[in-house]
Amino acid sequence: MVYVDAHCHLGSHQFDSDRDEVITRMLTARVHKAIMICCNEHDLKEGIRLRNEHPGFRLAYGIHPQSLETDSTPDLFEKFRNRVIECQPDMIGEIGLDYFSHCHTKDIQKEFFVRQLKLAQQMNLPVDIHNRKASADTLEILKQYPVRGIIHSYSGSVEMAMLYIRLGYYISFGASVLFANARKPAEVIRAVPLERILIETDAPYQSPIRDHRHEPADVVRIYSAIAQIKEIPSAELMQTVSDNFDNVFHPGSF
Ligand SMILES: [Zn+2]
Repeated sequence: MVYVDAHCHLGSHQFDSDRDEVITRMLTARVHKAIMICCNEHDLKEGIRLRNEHPGFRLAYGIHPQSLETDSTPDLFEKFRNRVIECQPDMIGEIGLDYFSHCHTKDIQKEFFVRQLKLAQQMNLPVDIHNRKASADTLEILKQYPVRGIIHSYSGSVEMAMLYIRLGYYISFGASVLFANARKPAEVIRAVPLERILIETDAPYQSPIRDHRHEPADVVRIYSAIAQIKEIPSAELMQTVSDNFDNVFHPGSF
């Protein structure tokens, strides 16, 4: 049985000096399935290489709302689309809306979000959704453009999680469940059916330890916390999350 890291930036420059060691630690910890989120050319190149080497690694490519801050030129989407056709990612992501960071106007963000959702529909690809302080608009847009996928690093309410699930989405939980005062994530994890749960690090980001680089191997700790909250054996959690991961990439499952 293997662990899944449903959202990590393995191609990130933060892993350039020791990526092989990071992957060795990951595989030693039995994290054999992963979604590598690539939002720039550097990460994408690394991601393509790693996908060829590791059969359990999936490639996600998307225009992150935060990238729009530095580049929202008119041909950005066309360039992205051509690159998608060339490199055939397994998923479009991460994409979405970020009203917390300063990522360009809401209108521009929505425009790129919708164009990428439409591309995912055309190519029959799942999506990985980034939402920060933009739940109402995110949900509204996802309702209009139905596609299967994952809500990354979920931190919303039980009610909102249920609305996403009704649209067919998986809810992915990260390291926030590890904090001692993590009452809200625990409540959501109890409510979300096991068949809809995914688990992620968002490495190198979102480490539970301040100023520490997060790694895919660290996902094991998040599994333990979730198994405890769900009051189920870790083997059951591992098996179901691994099946959920496979279902995301199986077009017939939605
Ligand atoms: Zn991320």
